[in-house]
Amino acid sequence: MIIAIDVGGTKISAALMQNGEIIEQRKIESVIHRDLRNLAQHLLNLCDDWIGKVQHIAVACTGQVGNQYVNFLSAKQKLPLKSQLESGFKVPVFIINDAAAAVWAEYSLVKNQAITALDTHNTDDTLVYITVSTGIGGGMVQNGQLVTSTDGFCAHLGHVSVQHIGQPSIRCHCGRLNCAEAITSGTAIAKQASNILAKTVSCKEVFQQYSEQPEIAQLIEQGSSAIADLIANVKATTGTHTVVLGGSVGSASLFFKQVTDKVSQLPEIYQVTIRAPQCGADADLIGAYYYAQKMARIQTNN
Ligand code: ADP
Ligand code: ZN
Repeated sequence: MIIAIDVGGTKISAALMQNGEIIEQRKIESVIHRDLRNLAQHLLNLCDDWIGKVQHIAVACTGQVGNQYVNFLSAKQKLPLKSQLESGFKVPVFIINDAAAAVWAEYSLVKNQAITALDTHNTDDTLVYITVSTGIGGGMVQNGQLVTSTDGFCAHLGHVSVQHIGQPSIRCHCGRLNCAEAITSGTAIAKQASNILAKTVSCKEVFQQYSEQPEIAQLIEQGSSAIADLIANVKATTGTHTVVLGGSVGSASLFFKQVTDKVSQLPEIYQVTIRAPQCGADADLIGAYYYAQKMARIQTNN
């Protein structure tokens, strides 16, 4: 058995997994913006009674997941999370970025389905995952390989600068102007909508209660245009034919439909198929599980 953990900006979930199946799962509110420094301790507490049952730990974590540190860009703090968790759990820990985990889950699933169905036509070995959630994350599989880098700053699609036509530029917390994350993450939408409505609202409330108000409707349109522009950049960079659009904001039906419509209006060479995650809300956990299995095998063979 192994423990898979998904550390997001809004929630943290942990699962006890065996043969790719979730046996038991639990969730807590994220501590990233509240008590980041003690993240490892919170994760240990969450999984306390599972320790001793597992061979290793698989973690999907938001942020810049490097070999030694996880750099939480928006919080401007970095943690040696792998070594902290290994000294607590006393088993090997494998960490990847949460969107990287999600793309790995989606890619592995489609690949296995194609193999099972003897579908030799499904030879697409490039896939991109975009999550529009608290922030915006990205994961890329290029020619069958997960795109990674030693400092973990790769495929961070939230920090790709996009068009924001007719609007004042917005400075992202990374320092650049008009990153997709600064325009249309859950945090960015909530912030801009709160200014328009002159009261504090969450992104969920924006979609559920205010989406028909003209200024808010325009805000959502600008957001989906930013993601369509991001997808055009992704197509030109990777050549992918499919983009999986996930996260609670990306999956909101209004947003998902607008992005799909806008991508279908791009010049033909930029058009891709947009689909919802097949692994659903557990894509990060499942992807981290399979990636850790692969890394553990490589370690054993070395
Ligand atoms: P995480 O960032 O922890 O991975 P989510 O993907 O759930 O988590 O993203 C959280 C963001 O999504 C928050 O900004 C929240 O307000 C927003 N959100 C949650 N549910 C919805 C919804 N049904 N429609 C639009 N936005 C939503
Ligand atoms: Zn940025």
